Parts: sequence; C-alpha cells; structure tokens
Amino acid sequence: MLNKSKEAFKQAKKVIPGGVDSPVRSFSSVGGTPAFISYGKGAYIYDIDGNKYLDFVQSWGPLIFGHCDSEIESEVLKAVKRGLSFGAPTTVETELACEIVDMFDFIDKVRFVSSGTEAVMSAIRLARGVTGKENIIKFDGCYHGHSDSLLVSAGSGMATFGTPSSPGVPKDLIKHTILSEYNNTEKLIECFEKNKNIAAIIIEPIAGNMGLVPASKEFIKLCRELCDKYGALLIFDEVMSGFRASLTGANSFYDEDPDIITFGKVIGGGMPVGAFASRSDIMDQLSPDGPIYQAGTLSGNPVAMSAGLKSLQKLKKDKTIYDRLNQKSKRLTNGLKDMANKHGIDLQVDVRGSMFGFFFNDKKPTNMKEVSKCNFDRFNTFFNYMLKSGYYFACSQYETGFISDAMTNDDIDNCIDRSEKAFALISN
Ligand SMILES: *Cc1c(COP(=O)(O)O)cnc(C)c1O
Repeated sequence: MLNKSKEAFKQAKKVIPGGVDSPVRSFSSVGGTPAFISYGKGAYIYDIDGNKYLDFVQSWGPLIFGHCDSEIESEVLKAVKRGLSFGAPTTVETELACEIVDMFDFIDKVRFVSSGTEAVMSAIRLARGVTGKENIIKFDGCYHGHSDSLLVSAGSGMATFGTPSSPGVPKDLIKHTILSEYNNTEKLIECFEKNKNIAAIIIEPIAGNMGLVPASKEFIKLCRELCDKYGALLIFDEVMSGFRASLTGANSFYDEDPDIITFGKVIGGGMPVGAFASRSDIMDQLSPDGPIYQAGTLSGNPVAMSAGLKSLQKLKKDKTIYDRLNQKSKRLTNGLKDMANKHGIDLQVDVRGSMFGFFFNDKKPTNMKEVSKCNFDRFNTFFNYMLKSGYYFACSQYETGFISDAMTNDDIDNCIDRSEKAFALISN
C-alpha cells in the first residue's frame, strides 16, 4: 500500500538527513513510513502509491482553502509570469501589508520575511533593541521556530532556568531565555520578581504546538499587566493561530492587545511567508530607518506575496467562513468524542475556529506537563488506523489539526464513522 513511498523514503534517507527537511514529517513518533505526496486537490491529498487521504494537516496550517484553490493558483501563476524575484520593492508587498494593518488597531506597520522562525527571531531582536533589555520569557510547550534562543526546554527540577533543547545551542545564549509554565499565573509573577532586565514575554496565546491548548483569559491579562508594569513588550506568536482561529486570530478571544505580533502559515497561502508587525514607534526602529538590523534577500517575494494577498482577501470577503470552519471543527471533535466515549475511552477536545485538538486523557490539559501525561499509545493506534483508512491526521498528539473550507460535512461524518473501528481497537 505504501510500497512506492517506502522506496522513496529509502532513497531520500541516503541524501537528506532522516529523509525529510523538517523532522515532524518523518512519522518517527508514530512509527512507519511517511506517505510521499504526489498532489492535492481540495480537501484531499494523494500519495505516490495512489492512496487518497482527507487532509487534516494542510501543510501544517497554511491551506485554509484546501489544495489548489483556483483563485490563489491563478494569482500565483500571474506573478510567476512576471518574474520569480527581483530583490526590489513590489506593490503587492504594500497591498498585503495594508490588508493586515487594516485588521488590527494596534498594528501600523508590517515587515515580511520567509518563515515563521524568521518572523519570531526578528521580533525578539526588535523587542530587545527597543527596550535595551536582554532577557525573554517563554513558556514550556510553546514553539516559536528553531532559532537558538527559543530552543529551550524545562530543565529537570529547575523552576525557571531551561536547558538547550538541542546540541549546538550555547548555554550562554539560553541564559537569557527564562522558561515558565503556560497558564500558571503564580510562576509568571515569580519570574518577573526574580529576574531583571526582561525585554519581552513571547507566547502562543492559542498554543498549537503541544496539541491545542488555549491560554486562559486571566493568564493573557496577567501577561499584559506584567509587561506594562516592568516595561517589557508582549509578543503574540500567531504564526499558527493568525487567520486560523479567526480573521484576527487570538484577538477575537482575548481583550488584551500585544505589542508585537508574528505571522506565518496562512499569511502565505501555502508559500513561504512570515511577518512581524507592531506600532510605528516600534517598527520605525528597524533598519533602514532605525538601528535594529533585519534583512532578507527573498523577503516579500512577489510570488509568495500574491498567494498571501489572495488568501487574506478571500478570508476577509467571506463573512461566514470562520463560522463554517468552527462548526465543522466542532462537528468533527464532538463526533470523535462521542464515538470514543461509546467505547469507554476518555477524549478531551477543543476548537478555535479552524483549529482543533484532541487528547487521550481524562481531563483537559492546560500546560505541557499535563499534555505529556496523555496516553500516547492510544493516540498512535488511532493515528495509524485512521491513516490506513484514508484520514491524514497530524502524526503526533503534540500537534493541532486543521479544517479547510474545502471539507464537507460528509467528509467529516465519514471520518467519524470510520473512527469507530479505531476506538474499538484501542478499547480492546
Ligand atoms: C510553525 C510555527 C513557527 C515556525 O514557523 P516556520 O515557518 O516553521 O519557521 C513559529 N511559531 C509558531 C507558533 C508556529 O506554529
């Protein structure tokens, strides 16, 4: 069934480390061979063996309209004909920036980069440059890309000091990253009391990289208050939740505004785009107007910008799209939960717009420690059975799932029907 993929994986492994260009694709946590994808259409992807899957991954978030959306495709093709890159300004960058600035009261200016990692890395430098301070606070379980100062995990036993989560990250650098617990107000207050020189808090307000774990309103409020009190900046990393949870991402779920916001994924409509944005007084400190250096040869690439622009225009124009997506997310997760319960299995589900998450656990996790106690064997059984049945879920309980507008209620109902067998397997 995966014969061609198996062979392709073998060949890839000879010349690409682990056979993949981003580790999560390797299926190492669930075992087995990743399907090599040949093409996608609407809600579905097709692998090189000819298997068809309903795609709940959508390139890890960007494809909110599904694969090969005709309007986005046509804008991209037009841009390709004009030239792939110039390294000179194009008007489409301004157009995309205007779309974003229009959506948020607290944003005046945007700078485009080519990935979420780059967006966050640049936002951190900006926050440090603007405040003249060096330390940042990050939360265990939030992912902000693979730049050095953000690859920190909870050190065993230590309350606030993390350890590098990868060889190659200097301890001296990590010293400036203070790790705290998501949704834990006491620990966060303690962080500010114990540490001086804090430039910023960086947070996924709707965390999607430890499964879907939204922050409490109270916690976000405290983040805002502490930043104001201590003269730090609040950075919302909305690389995943931006234009996914709602048109304005976390902003429609919380009352607090961040100082800096980072985007990626949906903002590029499937092309490599990231962005960071803030008020003029902060953004104007970036080069060339200000002293804080940031640059990119392919930043604002016109082909990528055209895909992003069309995506955001479509999202803005369609007044009911997020309601539809939210309803479908709920239909799926409630259906899975009922089916699991029918077989005596506890399943915790949550939804934010087109983002959905589910945990094999008896209570909803609120931080990384609780997520890591969920039942991963059950997840693996579920994942592998569903994959064989043509349902492409994210290959780890630490990932969030996505609904695309191309998915129908029938697609979802069929998936729920099919899940019965998976839950039966688990309960045996
Ligand atoms: C995906 C993601 C990133 C990293 O983006 P890349 O494009 O993979 O570099 C950063 N932050 C969050 C919240 C993400 O989900």
